[in-house]
Amino acid sequence: VNIEVVCTGDELLSGLTTDTNSPYFMSKLFELGEMVSRSQTVGDVREDIIAALKAVNGRANAVLVSGGLGPTADDLTAECAAAAAGVRLVEDPAVLESLRARFAKRQLPLTPNNARQALVPEGAEVVHNRFGTAPMFIQRVGRCTLFFVPGVPREYKALVDAEVLPRLAKMIEGQPNRIFRAARLLKTVGIFESHLDAAVKPLAKAHPKVKFGFRTHAPENHLKLLAEASSQSEANEALAKADRACREVLGPFLFGADQDSFPAVVGALLRDRKETVALAESCTGGLASQLLTTPPGASAYAIGSAVTYSNEMKTKWLGITEQMLAAHGAVSEEVARAMAEAVRRRCESTYGISITGIAGPSGGTEQKPVGTVFLALASADGTECQRQHFLGDRERIRQFAAYHALDMLRRRLIRSGKNP
Ligand code: AMP
Ligand code: MG
Repeated sequence: VNIEVVCTGDELLSGLTTDTNSPYFMSKLFELGEMVSRSQTVGDVREDIIAALKAVNGRANAVLVSGGLGPTADDLTAECAAAAAGVRLVEDPAVLESLRARFAKRQLPLTPNNARQALVPEGAEVVHNRFGTAPMFIQRVGRCTLFFVPGVPREYKALVDAEVLPRLAKMIEGQPNRIFRAARLLKTVGIFESHLDAAVKPLAKAHPKVKFGFRTHAPENHLKLLAEASSQSEANEALAKADRACREVLGPFLFGADQDSFPAVVGALLRDRKETVALAESCTGGLASQLLTTPPGASAYAIGSAVTYSNEMKTKWLGITEQMLAAHGAVSEEVARAMAEAVRRRCESTYGISITGIAGPSGGTEQKPVGTVFLALASADGTECQRQHFLGDRERIRQFAAYHALDMLRRRLIRSGKNP
């Protein structure tokens, strides 16, 4: 089934309102094994809406059109639907009656602009909208079925669930060459998107039923696997095979899949081992601690943090000597190691993590340019320290540093292999 989406509304084009309706519909449709082939947004302009509807009428089998069914002058969808199909606009007595009843209940007169809402394209099937005043109607033009629903998200979602998706499901089930899909999102950290692409590309040939897609959610990079086949079991099998092959290639860069969140994965590893962690942060100002404590239940493993932004506090709270700071600078391997060890000792945690670096935009030197960050991880087995150079602006450098610190811990936990 060739399914398209048309959203109407100036507010969607001016940036005032984000289209949250379409992703809702698309994800629900995806669960039925179908993807929208095209999605567009048009303003509240008569000619534009008519042109968009004419185009989809000739192209798609099913179209979800949202918005513009209200009582105001910028609500043009019904008349445009009629014009695009070359039919008249007619008054639907049932809609008019329900509008009248609704207003009578509140002892309000039915104004002419309210009554306009009862106008629908001739031949359209009106579906009672239990969730609001604007009508929903279904119009058939040639081989195309158009579902017109209000844009108000609450009504939109309710009508999509109750009226649109069940009808689409029937259309999808009925088609002879139905495609079955299975999807997985593999989530990585610490690998560039280009490297991820290069690592995975050689796999594509061996998995012809699987599409590989990439998405960056910096600092995470996601790999989307979408298997398509003529039966569900075939799609599931193809997905499982590709999933295994990718996991092998990605190794420790892979931290989770689908709904997994990075901090929750790190947290689960700690919780399983009944281990704890404490952080000493400088340039990240608490970002890593914030990230670590995002999942509910983080108190099982996150026991404390010291945001020691100044040298003075590095000395007061963590006991970093003035001599060490003077000799190596606050952004140094020596200080990073000492911070991680000190916070671990003081919090009596299994692990101590430290981050000290230059987030910029100023403060960089030739030896230590902006983006230079030292990260240390202390444990009973000793302390490891990394010097990293993160690229980008201040926000990005801090974000990557926070992620990288937790990723050092994650990798250590995986390596130690004590995972039950
Ligand atoms: P309408 O049905 O065109 O009168 O839209 C009613 C209200 O719903 C608009 O003022 C928007 O605030 C909201 N809305 C319309 N379309 C969308 C959309 N695609 N996503 C989220 N909100 C929307
Ligand atoms: Mg509108």
